[in-house]
Amino acid sequence: MPFRLLAETIDRLELVSSRTQMVTLLANLFKNTPPDVIDKVVYLISGSLWADWKGMPELGISEKLLIKALSLAYSVSERQVEDLVKSAGDLGKAAETLKSRSQGKVSLFAFTQSTTRELTVSEVYNTLVKIAQLQGEGSRDLKIRLTAGLLKDASPKEAKFIVRFIEGKLRAGVGDATIMDALAVVYGGGASARPIIERAYNLRSDLGEVAKILATQGLESLKGIKPEPGVPIRPMLAERHNDPREILAKAGGEALVEYKYDGERAQIHKVSNKVIIFSRRLENITSQYPDVVEMALSNINAEDAIVEGEIVTYNRDTGELLPFQELMHRKRKHDIHIAIKEYPVKVFLFDLLYLNGEDYTNKPILERRSALEKIIRETDDFMIAEYTRTSNPDELEKFFMQAISEGCEGVMVKALHKDSVYQAGARGWLWIKYKRDYKSEMIDTVDLVVVGAFYGKGRRGGKFGALLMAAYNQEKDVFETVCKVGSGFKDEDLDKLPDMLKPYIRSSKHPRVDAEIEADVWVDPVFVAEIIGAELTLSPIHTCARGILKPDAGISIRFPRFIMWRTDKRPEDATTSRELIEMYQRQLKKVTTKAPAEGEV
Ligand code: ATP
Repeated sequence: MPFRLLAETIDRLELVSSRTQMVTLLANLFKNTPPDVIDKVVYLISGSLWADWKGMPELGISEKLLIKALSLAYSVSERQVEDLVKSAGDLGKAAETLKSRSQGKVSLFAFTQSTTRELTVSEVYNTLVKIAQLQGEGSRDLKIRLTAGLLKDASPKEAKFIVRFIEGKLRAGVGDATIMDALAVVYGGGASARPIIERAYNLRSDLGEVAKILATQGLESLKGIKPEPGVPIRPMLAERHNDPREILAKAGGEALVEYKYDGERAQIHKVSNKVIIFSRRLENITSQYPDVVEMALSNINAEDAIVEGEIVTYNRDTGELLPFQELMHRKRKHDIHIAIKEYPVKVFLFDLLYLNGEDYTNKPILERRSALEKIIRETDDFMIAEYTRTSNPDELEKFFMQAISEGCEGVMVKALHKDSVYQAGARGWLWIKYKRDYKSEMIDTVDLVVVGAFYGKGRRGGKFGALLMAAYNQEKDVFETVCKVGSGFKDEDLDKLPDMLKPYIRSSKHPRVDAEIEADVWVDPVFVAEIIGAELTLSPIHTCARGILKPDAGISIRFPRFIMWRTDKRPEDATTSRELIEMYQRQLKKVTTKAPAEGEV
C-alpha cells in the first residue's frame, strides 16, 4: 500500500472540523487499505508502532538528531535546517519545505536522474520499528542514516508525517473510538458492528490486532474473541455516588459491598508458571512487584488465570494499611530488594476474569467470586477483599465507616443480579464507588492522651508497636478514644516505651477512659502526644463525640502519625472532644459548597 494514502489522510485530518468528517476520512483510508497491513495503518495513525501495553516505542531520536537527519537527507547544512525550523514553525513543516525545494532541484535533472520511488506503508513501518529497536554502540548514527533514507524517498507530505511521528507530535488527534467507528463503517456495515469491535478491543487492548482480525477474518471472528492470559484486559470502572440509599437502589437492591483499598490496581495474569502484572493503565508493572509474583505463583491454584486486586503497602510492625502515597515511595526506589523490605505489600483480590481456558467476563459477579474463592489460597498478604452483602442502607453506612477506620478509601458497591458481568473498559452503575469525597488535608495537629498500648508484630514483636489515643471530654471528664497510632515513631521512641509506660500500666481500663476497642495493655491517662493525620473521619469503633455527629459513630483520625511527646501538657490540656467536633465540621464546610444543615453531617 502506498504510504502516500496514509500521509494524505493525516494531512486532511488536521483540517477537518467535525468528528463525523474524521470518521469519513478514516473510513476512506481503511477502504483502500489491504487487510494484511491494516494493523500497521492503525498503529501509525495512532502515533504508535504497537499496542501501548507492549511498552511505548522509544525511537531515541532527539530534535538535534532529527536536524542532522534532515541535513543529510536534503544536502543542506544543519544551520540551514535550524533557520528553517524557526521560520516554518516546526520540524515537520521544515521537512516538508526542504523536500519540496529538493524536488524542484531534482526536476532540473529529471531526464538524467531517476525520480523518487514510492514508499510503502510496510517499508515505513518496518524502518521505524528498526530504528526503535536499534541499541548500543553506533546505533545513533545508524538511526540518523535510516531516518535520512526514509526522508530522501518521501514526498513533502510524507516527510512531514515521518518527522512528526518520530517527534511524537502527530497532530491528527485520532482516538481509539474514532478508529473503531471507521472500522465499523468499512467492515461491519455500520453502527451495529461497533459494540462487537469495542468488546474485542476491551478484551485484547490492541486496536491494530482487532482491526486485522476484522479485516482478514470478518466480524463473526471478532465475536469469538476471548481474553488471553498475558494480554491485558481493559479494566471495568465504577460510577460514584455518596448516598447509601440511592447507591443500593442503583445497584438493584441487595449488593456486594467491598472495602475500597487505597493502593494500586493490579491485573494479575498467571500463565502456567509465569506471572505478569498490569496496572490500571495496562502498563506492565511486573518488575516492580517480585513479591506479588511469588505470592501469585504460590497461591493461585490454576494453570492459567487472570485475577484482579489492589496492592496496598502496610506497616510491618502494626499491620495497618498505608495510603497510596506510601506505595509511591516504593515505586520510586531504584533497588527493588530494598523497596520490598521497606514497603511490604498485601494483595486484596476482588475479581476473576479468566480461568483455565474459560472467559469469566461474561459471567455474573457471584459466579466469578465463587470461582475466585476456590482457586485462591488465602495467606496473611494475599487474600480476598473484605466484603459483606446487604440491602440495608444503615448496614452499608456502617461497613463504609468500618472500611475508612481500617485505612481504606471507602467501599465499592457491586450489583449482584444476573446481568452483573465484568464490563471491560466501561464505567457503569454495576460498580459504584462510595468514597469520602470531602477529602481534605488535616492541617492542625492535635494533642491526644495515651490510654492503652498494643504489642507489635514482626520487627517490633514483644515490644509496643502502637498506642491507643484519646481526646479529653471536658463535660464528662473522660478520655474518649480517637485512633490507634503506630506510624511516625523513631526506633528509639519505641525502645523507650516499655520503661516509660511501665509505672502506669493497669490490668483493666482506667475508669476515666471510654473505649470500645480492647487494648493489649491499658495505661493511665498520663502522657500526651502530638498527632497529625490525613483527615478527620467518622468511625464505628471510636468513642470520641460518639453519637453527636452520627448515631453509633465517633470521630477518628485517618492515617495518624506520631510527631512528639508533649511533656509540657497535662492530660486535661489535651485536645477536647468538642474541639474535634468543630474541626470535623470545619473540614466538611471547606469541601462542600453549601454548609451542611443543622444535624445533617
Ligand atoms: P477510576 O479507576 O474509577 O477511573 P480512579 O482511578 O480515580 O477512578 P478511584 O476513584 O479511586 O480510582 O476508584 C477506582 C479504583 O478503586 C479501582 O480502579 C481500583 O484500583 C480501586 N479498588 C480498591 N478496592 C477495590 C475493590 N474492592 N473493587 C474494585 N476496585 C477497587
